[in-house]
Amino acid sequence: MKILWFLLFAFATPSLWAQKILNYNDYQELAKHNLSYLDKGGVLKSQRVKFKQYTLELYDEKGNSEFSTSWPQIPDLVRRLETGNHKDLYGGMNKTLRELSGGLIKQGSGEYHPIPTEISELTVAIDPGHFAKDFTQAIREDKYVKMRGKDIGLSKDVSFYEADLTDITAAIVKLELEKLGAHAFLTKGMGENSLGKTFHEWYRREFKGDLQHYYQDGDVPKVEYESYLKMDSVGIFNTFYRFVEFRKRIDLINNTNPTVTIIIHYNAAEGGKRDADGFLKPVQNDYSMAFVPGAFSSYELRRYSEKLDFLRLLMSSDMDKSMRLAHLILNQESLIGIPPVQNDQHLLDERYCSVTDYEGVYCRNLAMTRTIRGPLVYLEALLQDNGKEAVELAKRDYALEHPMYGKIMVPKRCYEVAMCVVKGITDWLEENKSYSSTATPAPDLEKK
Ligand SMILES: [Zn+2]
Repeated sequence: MKILWFLLFAFATPSLWAQKILNYNDYQELAKHNLSYLDKGGVLKSQRVKFKQYTLELYDEKGNSEFSTSWPQIPDLVRRLETGNHKDLYGGMNKTLRELSGGLIKQGSGEYHPIPTEISELTVAIDPGHFAKDFTQAIREDKYVKMRGKDIGLSKDVSFYEADLTDITAAIVKLELEKLGAHAFLTKGMGENSLGKTFHEWYRREFKGDLQHYYQDGDVPKVEYESYLKMDSVGIFNTFYRFVEFRKRIDLINNTNPTVTIIIHYNAAEGGKRDADGFLKPVQNDYSMAFVPGAFSSYELRRYSEKLDFLRLLMSSDMDKSMRLAHLILNQESLIGIPPVQNDQHLLDERYCSVTDYEGVYCRNLAMTRTIRGPLVYLEALLQDNGKEAVELAKRDYALEHPMYGKIMVPKRCYEVAMCVVKGITDWLEENKSYSSTATPAPDLEKK
């Protein structure tokens, strides 16, 4: 590889030479920039990734070289990692990164979205967090709020649950984006999970088959596979089922190849204690927060799939796009009275998160932030147990014209949050225009 690149250098015409120098510098700069956000703890920088003059190299935990690519090959590699058939890329046991260097993984039919500037170019994946279909299930998920009326100045107690709020918000984001001319899709139906069937139906009919298939694809290690075979249905619900539910969302998103993905959650104050009847006390604080990819620990770069995801994030401009979009959505939230969280305002788990240059935007290596291809924002919109928010979230003061369920009354606050996402996306498109006018391969690399 090195030799070929050298030959290319030696025989290139002067104009091509200049072009190559430009690409080379940009990609190396972009990868270094990305690595500063991808590396949690410094080990990746010092031991696992090396920037050589002509190549980018990856080493395993024992220091053996396991991947090398020349800088000019990177655009093609990024395109394959972003759009290649997902099963082709990730499926199968005992795969190694050598296959990637060898170019054996074909590019899929998907289109790579370099830097969208028009709403009509957008396909937005919207993922509503959690899957409870009613309050009983929300209690099982422990994703609900109950507050006593006397604590928040109301005559009656209030209650609501996160999966309902995220479903409502996601539905509005989809409708409003479509009104503007974008394509959008949801990862699950309202009140449903991503499997489209109840846990018991799945457990009866598909559990064994799914387990076999994820084990064979290398997603479930042998130890886990064997423990799942011995587990009862409650155990499976809390472990493997949740994994499959996530994976269906991730696979749907990756196979649809969206331009951008928005994951919607509503937060609650840390350490909030429920009383014996499940009621929470209101908190004074309120803030927004968003996660983007990054913050890999050394032990999170062991499996083949993790390495593929890492390489994609290292070489592409997804990190920058995600951070800017997250920032623009949080900016909009500030305008409706929800400021981005301050670093000293919450117990940021330093083991898993790292700060970015934007307030309230953190790199975090979650299953969804790591595996979803393309730019993404994992939004924690506000604190549901803030006293004022709880009052608003319990209201049914906005009429949502749902394409399937007709008119449903929902909290207007969810509409407001949804519009922050929509405006954040349109602001992002505007911002992209200034980046795309500079025709370099890494146009949205911010020079800070
Ligand atoms: Zn959540």
